Amino acid sequence: MEDSKGLWKIKYESDLFPEFGREIAASPGGENIFSCIQCGTCSGFCPLSLYMDYTPRRIIAMTRAGFKEEVLSSSMIWMCASCYGCTVECPKEIKITDVMYALKQRAIKEGVYPRRFLVPILAHSFFKSVWKHGRNTESHLIVSMYMKSNPFKMLTQSLLGMKLWLKGRMGIMTDSIRDKKSLQSLLQAVKKIQNGKAH
Ligand code: SF4
Ligand code: SF4
Repeated sequence: MEDSKGLWKIKYESDLFPEFGREIAASPGGENIFSCIQCGTCSGFCPLSLYMDYTPRRIIAMTRAGFKEEVLSSSMIWMCASCYGCTVECPKEIKITDVMYALKQRAIKEGVYPRRFLVPILAHSFFKSVWKHGRNTESHLIVSMYMKSNPFKMLTQSLLGMKLWLKGRMGIMTDSIRDKKSLQSLLQAVKKIQNGKAH
């Protein structure tokens, strides 16, 4: 197996997680991963594969081979822009984009995602805000994102934030819906269903 720098890493079979591939295959959209022919169409089509640590083709291969740690800590799954291009082009009709969602959910559940990478931080802060207030407040989201990833960058962005606020393009007051309790019950029910499916 090659690592992200193209170096070969030897792993003993006992260090792999053979059930990992089967578990992802059991997730919505993961059904066909074992029929992947490693043609590389997905990697060739992906507009972001150049910047990824592993290409989509490699992620599929590693997932089914049981390279759980490498896959879940990969930044690739968080760089996926969900354009669905690979899914449309795959000759084996593998729902690669949905597989990425399944991997992201698993990485969050196991707490192994890249901690300072912006996308999971953004996703987490967004969900927290919607859960609490029923809406997302852009300014709060940006502050939370920088505080958890790169607080120094926030200093350089604060002037821009001020300008946007003065022009009325970004609010600082918390946006909120009236019936937050109903929304929380709904989200709680979805969470329960998802947890039930994962076991
Ligand atoms: S395009 Fe489909 S079959 Fe080809 S490598 Fe990607 S996932 Fe596998
Ligand atoms: S859905 Fe994700 S992995 Fe697939 S082509 Fe788009 S960015 Fe790449």
